[in-house]
Amino acid sequence: MAEAQIEAEVTRFVAGLERRNQGETEFHQAVREVARSVMPLVLDDPRYREARILERMTEPDRIVIFRVSWEDDEHNVRVNRAWRVQFNNSVGPYKGGLRFHPSVNMSILKFLGFEQCFKNALTGLPMGGAKGGANFNPKGKSDREVMRFCQSLMVELHRHIGEDTDVPAGDIGVGAREISFLFGQYKRMVNRFTGILTGKGLAFGGSLVRREATGYGCVYFTEDMLNHRDDSLDGKTCAVSGAGNVAIYTAEKALAMGAKVVTLSDSDGVIYDPDGIDGDKLAFVHDLKEVRRGRLSEYAERYRCQYVAGGRPWHFPCDVAFPCATQNELDEDDARALIDGGCLAVAEGANMPCTSEAARLLRRSGVLFGPGKAANAGGVAVSGLEQSQNALRISWSRDEVDRRLRQIMSDIHSKCVEHGAGPHGVDYVDGANRAGFVKVAEAMLAYGIV
Ligand code: NDP
Repeated sequence: MAEAQIEAEVTRFVAGLERRNQGETEFHQAVREVARSVMPLVLDDPRYREARILERMTEPDRIVIFRVSWEDDEHNVRVNRAWRVQFNNSVGPYKGGLRFHPSVNMSILKFLGFEQCFKNALTGLPMGGAKGGANFNPKGKSDREVMRFCQSLMVELHRHIGEDTDVPAGDIGVGAREISFLFGQYKRMVNRFTGILTGKGLAFGGSLVRREATGYGCVYFTEDMLNHRDDSLDGKTCAVSGAGNVAIYTAEKALAMGAKVVTLSDSDGVIYDPDGIDGDKLAFVHDLKEVRRGRLSEYAERYRCQYVAGGRPWHFPCDVAFPCATQNELDEDDARALIDGGCLAVAEGANMPCTSEAARLLRRSGVLFGPGKAANAGGVAVSGLEQSQNALRISWSRDEVDRRLRQIMSDIHSKCVEHGAGPHGVDYVDGANRAGFVKVAEAMLAYGIV
């Protein structure tokens, strides 16, 4: 099919979407990228066209918006806004994280919920797509304030979730502490101990390896991409952004695979440690960010390495780049710097960390590019395994969960190869989008017009 015809159809479709969802730029961006990959399938198959599958897939099943009132430590009344976007439950109950960050808005949650549908389908587990969160900033809040906020949020959210309906998890700003407060409040309200959240503590239904799963999975996927080109991570220099859950465990597994990690970052700046961030240094970062909730600049002072305030990792030399912080944190200039520096692979630990222009440039330049919906699917995959363990009322060993995670990432890689192989090698963006799309679309077709 002619590329011009496909692009014309994408333009027409996205123009309608933009009209219906004004100002939601991140959502437009995510849909445009998927539409580019799947439009040839839609144009080729009259079943998809007649059933208006793409139109239906880009309209969430429902969105709940609610007020969260809470009291801070000085007894001031505070008000935030929260959302749950239940995007599509065609292949299983809704599943997707909760994000607490001042930047959270409808556009960001719709983009994340949309992406989640494809990612969850790719894992092969029965999970639909959702996302939620609040424009609440946990930074600088006391534990008690975070607790009161979480409890207030759950007073409304509990009506909309359930183990067979919608099972939220963590995301930016929602880690073990927040999940525990949320779960405790749910249990207290409904008087049922049931797996309505994942990422729970090990003492109350959590799964081993869930904490590490997104980062580990991202590295497994990258190893698979490199192996497919008869290469491996062993001996490679890696740049990682972020210093949160995904970044830390990406760095840990990269080290275990024989790579050297030279950067980490947070929202204030980047550290460059050419000697490599070893296990002890990573333990320091873990304590700094997860326990003391401090700034990465402390790392530079302690280990006497370079710190660039406001900087990002992409202009330091590396073989493999792992953007693991947030959306649109790697732009076209950064991509050019990576390509010029001889970077072989970019794997998205975060969701949509590369701008559209950056992703396009990397793909065109022959850099292996693992899109988030494939590369970071390990987190939701182990969340799915946590749900299975909760339903069976058993706990698998660390080795058992890690073995299943390794297998799921390898299956995702195979699906990307199957759907994305072309004359110039595998295009992992097309592969992931098409494989996820076909699974969700076939389920939707089977249900008729719903
Ligand atoms: P965390 O909150 O644990 O960590 C986020 C990290 O990114 C922090 O170091 C934070 O810096 C940094 N960061 C946040 N916003 C910005 C910004 N605007 N500019 C620069 N740095 C920023 O989140 P996670 O590690 O859980 O999530 C990271 C990404 O991975 C997100 O895109 C998320 O959607 C995605 N993801 C997460 C999964 C999971 O299992 N947790 C699963 C799949 C995807 P600071 O410390 O200053 O706040």
